[in-house]
Amino acid sequence: MQFVRYATDGVPGWGVRRDGEIVPLNGLREDVTYQQLTDSGFLRVVEDAVEAAADRAIPTSEARLLAPVPRPGKIVCVGLNYHDHAEEQDEEVPERPLLFGKADTAVTNPDDPIVHPAELDEVDYEVELGVVIGRTAKDVSAADARDYVAGYTAVNDVSGRDAQFADGQFFRGKSYDTFAPMGPTLVPDDRLDPSSLDVACRVNGDTKQSSNTEEFIFGVEEVVEYISGVTTLRPGDVISTGTPGGVGIFRDPPELLEPGDTVEIEIEGIGTLSNPVVAERR
Ligand code: MG
Repeated sequence: MQFVRYATDGVPGWGVRRDGEIVPLNGLREDVTYQQLTDSGFLRVVEDAVEAAADRAIPTSEARLLAPVPRPGKIVCVGLNYHDHAEEQDEEVPERPLLFGKADTAVTNPDDPIVHPAELDEVDYEVELGVVIGRTAKDVSAADARDYVAGYTAVNDVSGRDAQFADGQFFRGKSYDTFAPMGPTLVPDDRLDPSSLDVACRVNGDTKQSSNTEEFIFGVEEVVEYISGVTTLRPGDVISTGTPGGVGIFRDPPELLEPGDTVEIEIEGIGTLSNPVVAERR
């Protein structure tokens, strides 16, 4: 079941996408919250409501899709979390997840532009599985971790490599406005197994990254356990779980994003997130 945030005539709402259509959920008694997505009873209510309201569906082409978490409380990113991405950098497999932060204001919607800052030369793509937190989590065990997950979305962890490497830390290079495209759907944890999903990134139709979350060094359960042992996770926080091999900066020669490019990231069960790259206007 693919939840979507979308707008028609500028009014945002929640819906369920199926068969190229969106069934609006605005007739439900309660609004959709990230916490409710952890409740299997709620999901059954929604499924019944969607069946009953199928004749109210609107074509996806008439809706503007929005990021499922427009302003996360925080975005916690995991670096170096795919075996094939560690190999392309000749890095050892880390003993614990490497964490860094990305500004919440970097989030942007499906089909909206990624703005290429004039001051950067090395803007790169990274397909990542996004984990949306649904319940407050502190010191959660791996065995219980999935109970705290609302669901999964796709995140493009757009990265200014020159800023990232010049600074010796990641925050600036990862946090330019529009550097976190997110969507197109949010699939409840109850309806998706995050441990074996195909993930891919294409630039102008050419495949640059193609892997599977089976390549994870730390799975979703371990990542939630580790992060919740460091900091409290709250509903609407997002964990971006790291990217597989094939990023532009480690290609020979490097293949980085330029204005005019279109980046598509696709995750099995979640869909394809497409964004054009445009030059910053000053
Ligand atoms: Mg990343």
